[in-house]
Order: sequence, then C-alpha cells, then structure tokens
Amino acid sequence: MVKSKIKQSAEELSTLALKRIGQEKLEPFPRNYELFYAYFEALDANLVHAIDLKAEKNKKLTQDDCDAIHQKFLNKSDHEEALKEAGSKVFDTVKDITKKVKDAKNSMSEYGGSLTKISKNIGSEKNATKIQDMVAQMMTETQKILERNADLEHELDRSTQVMNILQKDLENVRKEALTDSLTNVSNRKALDDAFERYIEESNTRNKPFSFLMIDIDNFKDFNDNFGHQVGDQVLRLVAQTLKEGIRGADFVCRYGGEEFAIILPDTLLNAGVAVGNNLRKTVAMKDIVNKSTGKVLAQITLSVGVAEHDKGESMENIIRRADEALYAAKNNGRNQVASSYGR
Ligand code: GH3
Ligand code: MG
Ligand code: MG
Repeated sequence: MVKSKIKQSAEELSTLALKRIGQEKLEPFPRNYELFYAYFEALDANLVHAIDLKAEKNKKLTQDDCDAIHQKFLNKSDHEEALKEAGSKVFDTVKDITKKVKDAKNSMSEYGGSLTKISKNIGSEKNATKIQDMVAQMMTETQKILERNADLEHELDRSTQVMNILQKDLENVRKEALTDSLTNVSNRKALDDAFERYIEESNTRNKPFSFLMIDIDNFKDFNDNFGHQVGDQVLRLVAQTLKEGIRGADFVCRYGGEEFAIILPDTLLNAGVAVGNNLRKTVAMKDIVNKSTGKVLAQITLSVGVAEHDKGESMENIIRRADEALYAAKNNGRNQVASSYGR
C-alpha cells in the first residue's frame, strides 16, 4: 500500500523499492527496481493498483507478474507507437497522392500535345477518311484521359477515406492519453493542461476559479473488507457521480488512487464549497450493494478541500492549499468540506 499524498525523496523511494524487492524475494534486476520505484512514487494510480491487486491475489509477486506489469505500464509507449504508425501512414498516403497527381498531370500534357498536333493537321486535311481517322484518334485520346481522371478521382476518394480514419485514430490516441482508464474521467496529465488554461483566464480576466481536492474516506476499508474489485467499482461510481454533478465548463479528473480533483471556472470560494457539499451529499446517498444478495454493503463518504485561485498564484500553490484544507476536513472527522482562505 502506498500513500500518494506524501512526497518522498528519491533516496527514500529507492530504499523502499529495494526493500520491497527483498521482501518479495525477487532478483534486484534494474527493471524490478524501476517498477517498485514507480510503485512507491505512486504517480500512476493504475500501476499501483495493478501491483496491489496481484499481491493480494497471489500473496507473493512472481517475476512474471512484475514483468507483465512493467511491460504494461513502463515499457510501453503505445501512444508513441500509434502516433508513429499514423505519421508514417500519412506520409505514405501523401506520397501516393503526389505521385498520382504528377502522373495525371503528365498524361494531361501529353493529351494536350496530341490535341494540338491533330488540330494543326486537321485544318489542312482534305481527305475525308483521314479527317475521320483524326477525329477517331481524338476520341480515343479523350476516352483515355477520361478513364485516367476517373481512376484518379477514385484514388483520391480512397485516400480521403484513409485520411479520415487516420484522423479519428489520432483523436482517439490523444483522448486516451488524457483519460484515466479505470474511471474514464480525465487523468492527471489532463489536469496539468487544464490548469494552464484556467490560471491564464483567472489572471487575465479577473475571474477566479475554485479548485476542489476530493478524497474518499476510509477507502482502504473497502479494499480490505470487500476486495479490490469492489474498490474499483466504488472508484467508478464516485467518478461518474462527480462528472454528473458538475456543469459543462467544469473539469473533473482522477488525481491519484482514490482522489479526485475538480476545477470550477468563474466560481468564488463560497460557491465552490456549496458544490463540494452537494457532491458529497449525492455520493453519500449512493449505496454499495452486493449484486447477488441485494444487501447494502457500505456507504461512501468524501472529504473535500476547496481553494479559490488567487491572481498570479501557481498551480503547485493552489493544489497545496486545497490539499491542506482536505486534511483539515479529514482531521475534523471526515465526510465534510473545508476551505482554504488566501495564501
Ligand atoms: P482516509 O479517510 O484517511 O483517506 O483513509 P483511506 O483509507 O481512504 O486512505 P489511504 O490513503 O490509507 O488508503 C487509500 C487506499 O486506496 C489504499 C490503496 O490501495 C487504495 N487504492 C489506490 N488506488 C486504487 C485503485 O485503483 N483501486 C483500488 N481498488 N484501490 C486503490
Ligand atoms: Mg488518499
Ligand atoms: Mg482516502
């Protein structure tokens, strides 16, 4: 189990990683070190969860487990691969089209050449059969060029289709990179991007936003009492409820393990606190039910920390303030909203 909240030094992370490798009786391979360093650093909630889940199921982690998780979360660059592939497909398609247009241009100028030649000769020709031949030749040339053009049109249509598919693929890759795969809401990377925009707006338009840090209360108990699968179900339910409870211009993301963050543009502190309370109440009304027995297993409560953006304030600072407010809410007994007043 790792605490994503407390930022540990590289040295501490390194010690924790090596200790865990020893405990699991794994070889101190560099890739194992990299994996457990990332685990304790806890920047990727899905990696942490994958390891917890395996450790819970199998009691002990095997090298195969580690390799599979390493491959999935650290070795992959699916997005980069997909982008590279799309890039080379675009390159090939453009090359293809350019060649076809060039060919068409060549045959057009050949066509133009033979027409000029025929038209020059036809004026002085007196022999009806020869004139007839020339007209027939012109018709053949014209037919050829029409066919070529139809081919080219067809090819261009096909290329347009390929480009459309590629565009959609690229859009999906872009979306995936900004989405949390477990809950389907935005991820931390998307939050960084959103912050940039909202801070810029708050600074230039004098319209502060509110920032909410939300943490599920005693979430560890869900995992311990009902298993990680139910824990995951709870995460999805909370994510969905938060998403449904905010407006279109608002932004929600999974910040880490069982933590979510919300940005409310054009919203002052009091209104931010009110939104936090509404969301908290809506989530508290949802029961976690055992699907086969229908029995209510537990209720979910949230603690929320709210901060209003101060003009010129950095992203790190407003996160820190919302985090401090969140911890005040926890210390005060959980299932409540606390706010941070100014810097
Ligand atoms: P508090 O009220 O103080 O927030 O208590 P807590 O139990 O919620 O907090 P703690 O930080 O002690 O525990 C968080 C737990 O969340 C531990 C971790 O294993 C679990 N967790 C993190 N990510 C996931 C995930 O993706 N799925 C599941 N099922 N559990 C996760
Ligand atoms: Mg937490
Ligand atoms: Mg918690």
